Amino acid sequence: MKRVILIKYGELSTKKGNRNYFINTLYRSVQNKLKNYPVTIEKDRARMTILFEEKDLENIQNIINKIFGIHTYQVAVVCDSTEESIKSTLLEVVSQEAFSTFKIDVKRSDKKFPIPSQDFNHVLGGLLLKNIPNIHVDVHHPDLWIKVEIREESTYIYFHSYQGSGGYPVGTQARGMLMLSGGIDSPVAGYLAMKRGVELDCVYFEAIPHTSPEAREKVITLCRKLSSYTDLIHLHIVNFTPIQEKIYECCRDDYCITIMRRMMYRIMDRLCRSHNAYVIVNGESIGQVASQTLTSMNVINSVTNLPVIRPVACFDKLEIMEIARKIDTFETSILPYEDCCTVFVPKHPVINPRMDTCLEEELKFDYLPMIEEAVSSMNTIVVREDDQEYGDIL
Ligand code: ATP
Ligand code: MG
Repeated sequence: MKRVILIKYGELSTKKGNRNYFINTLYRSVQNKLKNYPVTIEKDRARMTILFEEKDLENIQNIINKIFGIHTYQVAVVCDSTEESIKSTLLEVVSQEAFSTFKIDVKRSDKKFPIPSQDFNHVLGGLLLKNIPNIHVDVHHPDLWIKVEIREESTYIYFHSYQGSGGYPVGTQARGMLMLSGGIDSPVAGYLAMKRGVELDCVYFEAIPHTSPEAREKVITLCRKLSSYTDLIHLHIVNFTPIQEKIYECCRDDYCITIMRRMMYRIMDRLCRSHNAYVIVNGESIGQVASQTLTSMNVINSVTNLPVIRPVACFDKLEIMEIARKIDTFETSILPYEDCCTVFVPKHPVINPRMDTCLEEELKFDYLPMIEEAVSSMNTIVVREDDQEYGDIL
């Protein structure tokens, strides 16, 4: 028996004008993610089919479960769209199942098939009742719900629909730049942005020697986990030490974090513009810390005109942690390595910073050349899911 994976597009179908673009992007994602498997992938406007080798099914399902743009899929047995072929295949597949009640749903999208759906439902139901002992029909709560889709090219028989990741295929939106720290929130923010089709670069601000190589490794691991939802991710590592030290040398204690974040945003703005990215994405959540009150966000955000997308802005920490566990970033995020934000935390960071005070404080050192230097000395690595080592960078 030949089996295929049938992918339904779900939410894509609401995008009428862009439909082909979405389908083609999804097709490329699937092709790319399954490049190490001997599969045949076909697509039309309603669905995609993947012909696979049985031994690879579990691995392929694990991969498909992480491809955005797939809402549901089925593993279906395929046969010719003739009455005889459908009957014999159905009997063979169903005989392998243990059940006592069943229901059959025939969908005939190939109107050339001579028997109407309802009539064929009865024909097939009768066939099973006659050939398999001790079973009966239950249309409300069947043990086995058999779907038979008769299409022109083939007929598909399956019992179960799997839930995909949903969202839009990565790459159907423009690029965004994710501020990726080693914390819990930013990988979740990255995952949620990618789920809407945003292709991401990541930026990590590090402050060696105040932060350790392990902290960097942790960020690379998080980036690798995120890259399993796309093809690869460029991770830009910015040396933030000189700016951070200067801020703590020159500025008021309570404004250090606010100014530090304004500097980060300035660098993000520069990087977006030089890397063809249209939005900044980060893991800020309203009220989580002093720099994430709405007044802080306003003062920090004002250094850039770019939209800042904060996918977890309205989530509770527990809700964010739940997603972090689901996407397998949580255990890495809670490793105890210092981040550059936590190293220099002042005792009483300002909760409602004033714009004029920020501007005054920022006059105390010449930050523009430092931002220039941070951007030009930045290190970029390409992170893929299956890469294990970054010997030259760690
Ligand atoms: P997370 O929010 O990811 O759990 P965190 O709580 O340490 O980490 P916050 O102080 O809440 O980080 O910072 C808010 C957001 O700013 C982070 O979610 C992240 O997007 C960004 N950010 C903070 N520190 C860094 C950093 N060192 N490099 C890149 N982005 C950072
Ligand atoms: Mg946070």
